[in-house]
Amino acid sequence: MRRSTRDRPPEWARAWRELVATARRTVTDGLVVGTSGNVSVRVGDTVLVTPSGVPYDELGPDDLCAVGLDGRQVAGRTVPTSELPMHLAVYRATGAAAIVHTHAVHATAVSTLVDELPAVHYMAAALGGPVRVAPYATYGSEELAAHALAALRDRSGCLLRNHGTLVYGGSLGRAYDDTAQLEWMCRVWLAAAAVPGRTPALLPSGELDRVAEKLRGYGQRARAAEATTAEAITETAAETITETAAEEAAEDPGVPGPPTRRTRPTGPGGVTPSSWT
Ligand SMILES: [Zn+2]
Repeated sequence: MRRSTRDRPPEWARAWRELVATARRTVTDGLVVGTSGNVSVRVGDTVLVTPSGVPYDELGPDDLCAVGLDGRQVAGRTVPTSELPMHLAVYRATGAAAIVHTHAVHATAVSTLVDELPAVHYMAAALGGPVRVAPYATYGSEELAAHALAALRDRSGCLLRNHGTLVYGGSLGRAYDDTAQLEWMCRVWLAAAAVPGRTPALLPSGELDRVAEKLRGYGQRARAAEATTAEAITETAAETITETAAEEAAEDPGVPGPPTRRTRPTGPGGVTPSSWT
């Protein structure tokens, strides 16, 4: 039976607001066009999910769409996203609290070229290691859900061939930030691979596993327990840049010293993911 607006748990309203804000961000940040892509968040045994075919800027509190883990709709009049089978498969098989699916342009381009995103940058460690490409299957199908789940083994993100990205996380913010990071890495590889006569250097085998391990240790020592790995990575990167600049300045007085304020990296299209602001 579907719940009326009045007997919905109060935490649904907050989760829905956050979900709509995240979905809108995928459009404004250029990760999807129009109504493509979809976002979901788990609240207990219920999954709130973007409806099918409704522009995100038109979504309001009354458009809340909730399903159980078995796929039965428990609240809302809107039809859930056509990619519901993929979202539910991930929730049933992992500890995901939120999922972001996009048709980001560089990630989708890479999905047509390789079976795994080449290890051009250690940020792939934030997704658990080298990012796999799930074989193609028709959108919304159980077959695509199964392919995606296989590609996500020991990972929190993957590419979907000729389709886009799929990333889950412990929060909507984390799933979004890792999606932006994945798109950025795909952009880096495409840019480097496009230089005529040159082949991009890749990280040594096993390096991503080492970085993932290092990041776990870093997070425990230096930050509160709730800090995300993405934040830890960003801090590590910023410190490395600052330290390197300081060393260079010490060695060569002609090199300007480190900036007094840390410069944060940005995501695709100059976007600064939420945990970096
Ligand atoms: Zn899609």
